[in-house]
Amino acid sequence: MNSSVHKMDTTPLVDSGYYETATAAIRGEAKRLLASGEVAAVIGYTAGRRKGSAQPVILTDADRADSLVFSPACVNNLALYLTKAKKEVSKQGKLAIVAKGCDLKALAGLMGESQLKRENLHIIGIACAGVHGSGVAPGEPLSAATIARKCRECSVHTPEGTDSVAGELPALEPLTALELAELARLEALTPAERWAFWKEQFSRCIRCMACRQVCPFCYCEQCLCDRNRPQGVETTPRPAGNMGWHIVRAMHLAGRCAGCAECERSCPMDIPLNLLNRKMAAELKELYGHEAGMQPQEKGPLAQYKDDDDQSFIK
Ligand code: SF4
Ligand code: SF4
Ligand code: SF4
Repeated sequence: MNSSVHKMDTTPLVDSGYYETATAAIRGEAKRLLASGEVAAVIGYTAGRRKGSAQPVILTDADRADSLVFSPACVNNLALYLTKAKKEVSKQGKLAIVAKGCDLKALAGLMGESQLKRENLHIIGIACAGVHGSGVAPGEPLSAATIARKCRECSVHTPEGTDSVAGELPALEPLTALELAELARLEALTPAERWAFWKEQFSRCIRCMACRQVCPFCYCEQCLCDRNRPQGVETTPRPAGNMGWHIVRAMHLAGRCAGCAECERSCPMDIPLNLLNRKMAAELKELYGHEAGMQPQEKGPLAQYKDDDDQSFIK
């Protein structure tokens, strides 16, 4: 058995041919689907303006399928473009979407919330070795130094239940689970110390709402946190409002968050939002045996009421 990689070295974790094979498979499938009229559009990734970067794209023309790519820069969770609020996308008809394993969990969750129907989607899954963490220069090879923290402990490298799978997963060396270690460190703190930790983290929040805009599950057309008549949560970046916003965010996503970590990646203040997401997910698993996004037609425990629900928290 391989020992875990502890140091942040820059040795490439995969051969560049792996990404080329996945890219070729995505292009071939997209071309076939668009040319036959099986789908109205393909949501995938294309090269960005900076060399080595990538960005989401919606293609409707089979002749442009060769502009699709898969690389370590394909960080976005494209499920974001499929919710009911993005009507300009969903009204086009049946769509194909390129999805990494962690994005698939979001698709499954959105199906459970009646935002999507499986029969309206053609899912091109990716056998995914990993993508870049935030702040990595585009074009850098995937390495222990550049890989996203979520990918260090990924359990969904090989997608299941998709219509096709692009690429072949290479042998992957185990990496140290940094996020899990940080969670364990937080768990070992007293409640007062944990409160102080999060208070300090949230004090940096500038309420830019990037974390909300990038989340596939924050699809309400009117967010409670934007309302001012009556005002639900103070909107200026001050301690009380910041704490209110983060509690609302955590509670609204508990049992729904797919763990794609897009919120954390997009946060300009480096607030470790995925730690909080993971803590909430662990609580839901312990209390209700629930894991978000494992089954497409599952309702989260906080979205339903049962007579025999645990009432012990009411004092
Ligand atoms: S978490 Fe897994 S599926 Fe998601 S990008 Fe990382 S390696 Fe790929
Ligand atoms: S809360 Fe963050 S990690 Fe969870 S689904 Fe939304 S963007 Fe992804
Ligand atoms: S992205 Fe970061 S700074 Fe912006 S609202 Fe969310 S937590 Fe606050």
